[in-house]
Amino acid sequence: MIYLDCQATTPLAPEALDAMLPLLGGPDSSLFANPHSPHRMGRQAAAVVELARERVAMLFPAGGRVAFTGSACEAINLAIRGSYRGGRVAISAIEHAAVLETAEALGDPLVIPVDAEGIADPRVNLPGETGLVCLMQVNNEIGTVQPVDALAERAHQAGALVLCDAVQGAGKFAPPQHADMIAVSAHKLYGPKGIGALWVRDGVELTPQITGGLQEGLRSGTLNPALCAGFGVAARLAVEGMEADRAHARALWDRALELFDGWTVNGSQTQRNHANLSIRKDGLDVARLMSDCREVMFSAGSACASGSGKTSHVLSAIGLAPAQAKSTIRLGWGRYTSMEELEAAAERLNYAASQQG
Ligand code: PLP
Repeated sequence: MIYLDCQATTPLAPEALDAMLPLLGGPDSSLFANPHSPHRMGRQAAAVVELARERVAMLFPAGGRVAFTGSACEAINLAIRGSYRGGRVAISAIEHAAVLETAEALGDPLVIPVDAEGIADPRVNLPGETGLVCLMQVNNEIGTVQPVDALAERAHQAGALVLCDAVQGAGKFAPPQHADMIAVSAHKLYGPKGIGALWVRDGVELTPQITGGLQEGLRSGTLNPALCAGFGVAARLAVEGMEADRAHARALWDRALELFDGWTVNGSQTQRNHANLSIRKDGLDVARLMSDCREVMFSAGSACASGSGKTSHVLSAIGLAPAQAKSTIRLGWGRYTSMEELEAAAERLNYAASQQG
């Protein structure tokens, strides 16, 4: 099987797995204690969590605190709901459902359009009642990189806070410097599933959304030291290996453009994550392609929209007609994807697509 769905999730880095295993904690282990307990074993577990927090902090700018959450969705909910003081929330037209649906739950969000390349316009007019502006760092469906810092400047002039969903950018790109809150997820950067984090700039006050002890200050619930440790190691590896990962992704991207000659690329080819290839072919039946290429793991548009039958709001926002959006596939590679795997996948996909014509 060939895995080309790294925007949906990534495999666990072996180094992260090694860090996690001793922390899963059977009765003979001294490491199963609750990290919030004040006794010696609890303090050992807490030390693991705090080391992980320092490592995860490498993903963010200086001058803020990191709260662990159960996912990026939770981090985003905490940021949006926890900072909400009335007023309006502005979001880009291509935000993930975690941002879109949460903003919609609080009222009618102001939508910041994107151009045909899939890039939001940072010169947008923000009405005075805007309290929060949300712009993702990298889009999950088409991989375009957004002008977060430029929009943040504008938002701050208008008196609004800024949330950046950096789930697809963290560990691949330097973090935005001017956001007030940044949400990330471990499982998109070779860490474990079930843990995310919210970075909050010093001085920004949030109302906790999950009460019950507030072990994380902003959030209640017993932390899982194994997940924290895996996340910490994955974050450190991503930051330290960023250039190597980017170079590898770029080499695969360059080859992919040759292999998928005849397909149309969605979104900017330059201002983007080169590990994400969103391509379309007129008239392509994506469901049939998936069933003909079961050995290749890829996605129709976005994993979340896959199978829902709904046209992707991201592909609509860049101006694609519903038929064009529905003939789109997304391929995503990463640190462990080899050139041979990409070539073999392209051969199968191209062959199956040619059989449809
Ligand atoms: N934001 C973006 C851009 C994503 O791609 C995802 C996951 O697909 C999320 C948020 C949600 O992340 P999590 O799975 O940690 O809740």
